[in-house]
Amino acid sequence: MKSLEDLVVFAKVNGFIFPGSEIYGGLANTFDYGPLGALLKNNIKKSWIQKFVSETSSNILLDSSILLNSEVWRSSGHVGGFSDPLTECKSCHERFRADHLVAKFDSSLNTDKFSLSEMDEFIIKNHIKCPSCGKENFAPIKKFNMMFQTYQGAVIESANQIYLRPETAQGIFINFKNIQRSLRKKIPFGVGQVGKAFRNEITPGNFIFRTREFEQMELEFFCKPGTELEWFDYHKNICRKFLLDLGIKEENLIFRDHEKESLAFYSNATCDIEFRFPWGFDELWGIASRTDYDLGVHQKGSGENLMYLDPDTNEKYLPYVIEPSLGVERLLLALLFSAYDTEILDNNEERTVLHLHPALSPYKVAVLPLIKKEHSEKALEIYNSLIKHFSVTYDSSANIGKRYRRQDAIGTYFSVTVDNDTLTNDTVTVRYRDSMKQVVVSLKDLNSFILNAISF
Ligand code: ATP
Repeated sequence: MKSLEDLVVFAKVNGFIFPGSEIYGGLANTFDYGPLGALLKNNIKKSWIQKFVSETSSNILLDSSILLNSEVWRSSGHVGGFSDPLTECKSCHERFRADHLVAKFDSSLNTDKFSLSEMDEFIIKNHIKCPSCGKENFAPIKKFNMMFQTYQGAVIESANQIYLRPETAQGIFINFKNIQRSLRKKIPFGVGQVGKAFRNEITPGNFIFRTREFEQMELEFFCKPGTELEWFDYHKNICRKFLLDLGIKEENLIFRDHEKESLAFYSNATCDIEFRFPWGFDELWGIASRTDYDLGVHQKGSGENLMYLDPDTNEKYLPYVIEPSLGVERLLLALLFSAYDTEILDNNEERTVLHLHPALSPYKVAVLPLIKKEHSEKALEIYNSLIKHFSVTYDSSANIGKRYRRQDAIGTYFSVTVDNDTLTNDTVTVRYRDSMKQVVVSLKDLNSFILNAISF
């Protein structure tokens, strides 16, 4: 696996990810997704929707607001409790997450079990030093709420204060009744949502791993109380399959089930799927069995009856929820680490190749006229017919070997070369990115040949 530094350079040079606000000196820990990054991100979201919504007949999609009535966040517990333990080095004024300092010192400890004062004591007793200046001079740990606040309307006063959502899930819970009734959904069913979330993280970092603005792909799966642990296992399995099918290697994944004592008070099972990043295993995807906690707090907070009436058995209950929650950018990072490679070829030449699943490749196909003057017209005709079906790029500059290398580096799955045979026989040479093997395909079959190969 490449280093983080290599990947950052690769992503910038090849148009995947740029530092945010760069020409103004930047804005710490913000990133812009370049033309190829935007396509890759979009393909990741499409694949998630395909597997977790479109191909699962019980599931449906939602697109709820980022801005919600502040009461939603009071009921959900975010206003009071969505916080991390913050400490500040009194010598250099750098701020840190105290639980991360403790975990870095001894990764076997479960920091969720520590109170703030226990964490304070642990840091002093073990002489944990500031990672920035090396001094032992930390201020007492405080709770820091990660909700981004803003104001709605022209007057900046507390009555108008609202929050940017720190997760997409609450938009699903507060629409439970609308969704269930309007679509006459029967339990069990799931509601998926993809969208932006904002957290004022104390220590963002590791490139796009932890940022303050990110996107989530969340599924809230509503089921009958008593069946939730079966559904929890079911979702663990389909999450695993999704990652493996996209090309992440089994040995780079750990499914870390939380022990009973470290479960959140509302959860009866939780599993973090961790990926082996260059800095070690770290959370990629959280799956939690959340009981009826979320619907319960919103029923209480809003005064609306959110009970489900089973039309077949006449049973009335508050559904339980399984929540697999995944960050788009974290998955993108894990996929780039899994795909980015340099290979030495038989002729000792080095090639950079991005072995992305073709469904994720920014471009599925590159159309390349062998000789610009002679084959461009036909090549453009082919390009114009293919772009109606999938994303295609066109390149007529430099020799064909160089053009192949360029496409390999950005993950383009097929290169289609247009030459004299195309003009006389209506055939093209199709080159596979990974094996570099070439096959001759007739023009009339080209579209279906490509579609078959790139499906997910
Ligand atoms: P962490 O422990 O890494 O802070 P979390 O347990 O708070 O994450 P969840 O609240 O469970 O994370 O969020 C679900 C998923 O959303 C995470 O598994 C991750 O993929 C993504 N995610 C959460 N916070 C961020 C962030 N600041 N930047 C990018 N992705 C994030």
